[in-house]
Amino acid sequence: VRKGFIRKLNGIVGADHVSRHVEDLICYSYDGTPYRAHPEVVVHPGSTAEVAELLATAAEAGVKVVARGAGTGLSGGSVPLEGGMVLHLDRMNRLRRLDPLEMLAVVEPGMTNWDLRQAAEGQGLFYPPDPGSTKVCTLGGNVAENAGGPHGVKYGVTGDYVIGLEGVLASGMTFRTGGETRRNVTGYDLTSLLVGSEGTLAVITEITLKLLPKPPARLTALLAFEKPVDAGAAVTAISGRGIIPAALEIMDGITIDCVERYRPGHLPRDAAAVLLIEVDGEAESVRHELQRAVKAGEACGGRLVRSARTPEEAEELWESRRSISPALGRIAPTRIGEDISVPRTRVPEMLERIQKISIKHDLIIAVFGHAGDGNLHPNILTDARDPEKMGRTEAAINEIFAAALEMGGTLSGEHGIGKAKSRFMEGSLPAETLALMKGIKDVFDPGGILNPGKIFPSGGAGPG
Ligand SMILES: Cc1cc2nc3c(=O)[nH]c(=O)nc-3n(C[C@H](O)[C@H](O)[C@H](O)COP(=O)(O)OP(=O)(O)OC[C@H]3O[C@@H](n4cnc5c(N)ncnc54)[C@H](O)[C@@H]3O)c2cc1C
Repeated sequence: VRKGFIRKLNGIVGADHVSRHVEDLICYSYDGTPYRAHPEVVVHPGSTAEVAELLATAAEAGVKVVARGAGTGLSGGSVPLEGGMVLHLDRMNRLRRLDPLEMLAVVEPGMTNWDLRQAAEGQGLFYPPDPGSTKVCTLGGNVAENAGGPHGVKYGVTGDYVIGLEGVLASGMTFRTGGETRRNVTGYDLTSLLVGSEGTLAVITEITLKLLPKPPARLTALLAFEKPVDAGAAVTAISGRGIIPAALEIMDGITIDCVERYRPGHLPRDAAAVLLIEVDGEAESVRHELQRAVKAGEACGGRLVRSARTPEEAEELWESRRSISPALGRIAPTRIGEDISVPRTRVPEMLERIQKISIKHDLIIAVFGHAGDGNLHPNILTDARDPEKMGRTEAAINEIFAAALEMGGTLSGEHGIGKAKSRFMEGSLPAETLALMKGIKDVFDPGGILNPGKIFPSGGAGPG
C-alpha cells in the first residue's frame, strides 16, 4: 500500500488506530490454523461510518480487505492471504441494546460471545450458541462463520438467532437486512445469506439477535465407555429414545489423556471415550430426562462416572471440555483440527473409520466434538516441519473427508471453509451450486476486494 493511502486511513480513524508496526502485522498474520500471511496495514474502526469510508477508500485503491474478530477461526478465514488491510473490529464491541420484553439484543460485531451470554443471563435470558472459544471469539466472527457449539444439538447455531444485520459492502455502501421481528419474509433472505459468508460478501457492523428465556434447571453427567464406537452408539440410542439433550459431547481416549495432563482430576483416564450430557428445562423434568439419557447410554456399555450436583460441579466438567484445544496444542508442534459433520446415526461408523485411518497412516488423531449433531473434530497431532509426516497427514485428511462425504456428511459443520478446505469445494458441491455461489460473490464484491482466497478453490470470484 502507498503512503498516500495510509494518510487517508489516518484521516478516517485517527493515526492511533492505524498500525504498520511489524509486531502488529505479525499478530494479525494468523488465526487458529497453521496458515500465515502478513497484512500491510491494520486498522481499528470505531463506527459503521468509519468502516464504510475505509472500504470505499480501499476499493478505490484496489487494496484487499480482511475483517477480523478475535482470530480464533479454525479455517484460515481471517488470515490476509493477499496482504492488504486487516479491519480489526475490536473497538466496535458494545452491547447497543438488550430488550427483555422483545427478548433480543442489538450488538456490535466485536462484542465477545461470552459477554453477550453473561449480559443476557443477568436479565434472566439465554443466548445459546456457545463455541468452545466463547470467552474470546466475537459475535461478528460467529455470524461470519455461523458458529455452533455444544448447545447446538437442542438450540441450533448462530444463524438460528440472527434476525437482522447491518453491513458494509466492498464499495463502501452501508445496508440493512432483516430487522427486529421474529418473522420476516419480505424478499430474499439476505440475513441468512450473510450468515456464514466468512467475510467474503460484506463487513458486518451490527447484529440483532433473538434471545430465549433462561432454562430454570440444568443437569450435567459424564458417561465413560470402553470403546469409542460404543459412545457413538449411545448418541444414536439417546436420540432414538426421543431425548434431545441440551448438549451431547464426545471426547475419545486420546483427548481425555491430553486434557488430564493439562488439567488433571476431572475425567476418567481409563476410558476410551466419554460422553458429556447436559439436559435443561423445568426442575421436575430434567432429573427424569437425565435418568433416561443415562440409561440409554448404559445400555450401550456406558458407565456413569459423574453427575454434577451443583452449577459449580457442572462448570468443572465444562471447563474440561473447553480446555481440549490448549491441551491438544501442547502435545505436538502442529495440530490440524478438522470439522466434519455426518448424519448422527453414522457417528459410530465415522469413529471407526477415523481410528482405521490413524492406524494406517501412523498418526495420532484425537477425536472430540458435538456428537449429538454428528459434528466431529478429528484433530491430527503432527509436525509441519516434517515433510514426510505432513504427507501422511494430508493423506489422512483426504481420507477423512472422503469418508464423511461417502456417509452423506459435509466438509465443515461449523468452522467454515476459509483457506483450509477451499480445495475440497469442487469435490463436495455440484458445479451448478458452486457457480451460483460465485455469482453471488460477484454481485456483492465485483472487484474481489473482500477476503480473497477464501471459500472458492481458485482464490475467490471477481475478476479472473
Ligand atoms: C479453542 C477454540 C474452540 C473453538 N470452538 C468452536 C466451537 O465449538 N464451534 C465453532 O463453531 N467454532 C469454534 N471455534 C472456531 C472459532 O472460534 C469460531 O469460528 C468463531 O466464530 C470465530 O470468531 P472470531 O471472532 O475469532 O473470528 P475470526 O477468526 O477473527 O474470523 C473468522 C471469520 O469471520 C470473518 N469476520 C470476522 N468478523 C467479521 C465481521 N464483522 N464482518 C464480516 N466478517 C467477519 C473473518 O474475515 C473470518 O473469515 C473454536 C476455536 C478455538 C480456538
